[in-house]
Amino acid sequence: MSLLKLDSVSKYFGGIKALDSVTLEIENSKFTLLIGPNGSGKSTLINVVTGIYKPDSGSIFLEDRNITGKKPHELYKLGIVRTFQNPQIFPNLSVLDNVILGISPIKGESILRSLFKPIWLREEEELAEKAYNILKIVKLDRLWDRPARELSGGQLKLLEIARSLMTRPRLLVMDEPLAGVNPQLAKEILNILTDLKRDIGIFVVEHRLDIVANYADYVYAMFMGKVIAKGSVNDVLNNPTVVDAYLG
Ligand code: ADP
Ligand code: MG
Repeated sequence: MSLLKLDSVSKYFGGIKALDSVTLEIENSKFTLLIGPNGSGKSTLINVVTGIYKPDSGSIFLEDRNITGKKPHELYKLGIVRTFQNPQIFPNLSVLDNVILGISPIKGESILRSLFKPIWLREEEELAEKAYNILKIVKLDRLWDRPARELSGGQLKLLEIARSLMTRPRLLVMDEPLAGVNPQLAKEILNILTDLKRDIGIFVVEHRLDIVANYADYVYAMFMGKVIAKGSVNDVLNNPTVVDAYLG
């Protein structure tokens, strides 16, 4: 059974079919890449998967559970967690505190929740230890007590990934995680994602195909709201319909 399945999902904005009967599957322990020219519907797809938009028709399943129309915070609790193109960090808090606070699909909501969590759910120390172990995974542990404002753009992406791991996601959804990151750090991020995918599914929209191609297990290409190709990186990138979509 696939981890996530979209079955003929459509989403319209006025007369625009942003998603036109999209069917796709994301497997656990796989890096699934979504590509397509600007305006193809990639961000809309991510917004539908993470509950920001409700599909106008079609169904979405998390394993065998129908999650169509669920709200972002409900999906977040079920383990569908996204990172944002512009990391939403607290610049004056330490790297560790930023991880402890985690991320939220609804800005601000988790801050309140997280502030109370240590009091009645578990010891603050335990959370700090968990956060520190996660910082080791993303190789930011030696910067744990630095204010987040001192991190580079690429390190902020790593911090964003670390925060998303605090909730033990089952599916990590990322919109352009490599935008503005230098090639060296981009590879580091991709290596970390490769480690993580042992336990979870990873679904990424990314434009920098030269770097990401070696890491993707499965690729979907979209154009004008439709899935126009799927398969291995080579199959999809050499598919004439995909080439035409990019050139057109
Ligand atoms: P991509 O991420 O592949 O560049 P989008 O999903 O952002 O594409 O957009 C797909 C289409 O839907 C585009 O034509 C875009 O203009 C339109 N669209 C996306 N979001 C909205 C919105 N909130 N309101 C109106 N039109 C939108
Ligand atoms: Mg987009």
